Amino acid sequence: MADDQRFGRSRRDFMRVAVTAASSASLPWLASTDAQAQTAQDATPGNAPATTAGTSTRGTKLILLGTKGGPTPSALRAAPANVLLVDGQPYVIDCGNGVALQLTKAGVKLPMVRDIFLTHHHSDHNADLLNLVFLAWASGLKTPVNLYGPPRIAKMVDDFIDMNEIDLDVRMREEGRPAFKPLINVHEFDGPRVVLENDQVRVTSALVDHYTIKPAFAYRFETRDRTIVFSGDTRYYEPLATFAKGADVLVHEVMYLPALEKLIRTADNAPTLRDHLLRSHTTTEQVGKIAAAAGVKTLVLSHFVPGADPSVTDDMWAADVRKDFSGQIVIGRDLMEV
Ligand SMILES: [Zn+2]
Ligand SMILES: [Zn+2]
Repeated sequence: MADDQRFGRSRRDFMRVAVTAASSASLPWLASTDAQAQTAQDATPGNAPATTAGTSTRGTKLILLGTKGGPTPSALRAAPANVLLVDGQPYVIDCGNGVALQLTKAGVKLPMVRDIFLTHHHSDHNADLLNLVFLAWASGLKTPVNLYGPPRIAKMVDDFIDMNEIDLDVRMREEGRPAFKPLINVHEFDGPRVVLENDQVRVTSALVDHYTIKPAFAYRFETRDRTIVFSGDTRYYEPLATFAKGADVLVHEVMYLPALEKLIRTADNAPTLRDHLLRSHTTTEQVGKIAAAAGVKTLVLSHFVPGADPSVTDDMWAADVRKDFSGQIVIGRDLMEV
């Protein structure tokens, strides 16, 4: 698959260069909005590596797009999603509701999205997987998008196309958009593997333990300058420390028990909900143990449970983590750059 990916990359890069050359030089009379959009896109960070060398777009940048765990919307935090920018090229990890809007707020041009990774099939992580591809397509996407993650993604693609048939047909016919489905490459897997390897990044997956949701993945991204690991959703799971060993950054989900107990006291389904959460997620104290065992430099807390309680301060999130972990702790916020 690595070879396929490399081939796909180089062919697309060739096409991109060809389009850039055409819109800026060979076809100066082509003043359509499409051409302007393309030019703007090519001027964005990292889209033309030859011209951005040495600028701040070089290297690996993590942006937290949404940091709240769970599917219910909140004014405080958006649903789970992250983007890694490697020399400006976005790699999206999880697609909670609103991911396209959050990417836009982060300054990422949607048609540049090419690789999307799903950790597991909970709706707070996959609700907007196909919406993101669709909105990128409606924004001018012309190049293939790769969707990586657990089985059922292919079915989601088919169901999405079925559900949105009217809109997709109209936009292809009347707006001249390219055929939607051929742009989507699905890469499903159910265990640890090298997920993607190209000239920018090597991505590997590991299984974590997210109670009844199987498989659930953590991802490790190794680039020229940084190694960043995403826990996905998991209960306290010691093998994750081995997978995250020596990483510069570990983005780990987190649950704060005292606030959770308060929340659960008011819920109708309290006993079931409490049991589900404790078997599915990692407490603040347990996150500290994982980060310490992994020896990571920076621990980024994200996927906060509860994530919509403003009375839980940064110090409260960090206090029990510090018992075991002496590295840098970042309390994640939406659109924060790490
Ligand atoms: Zn979740
Ligand atoms: Zn989950």
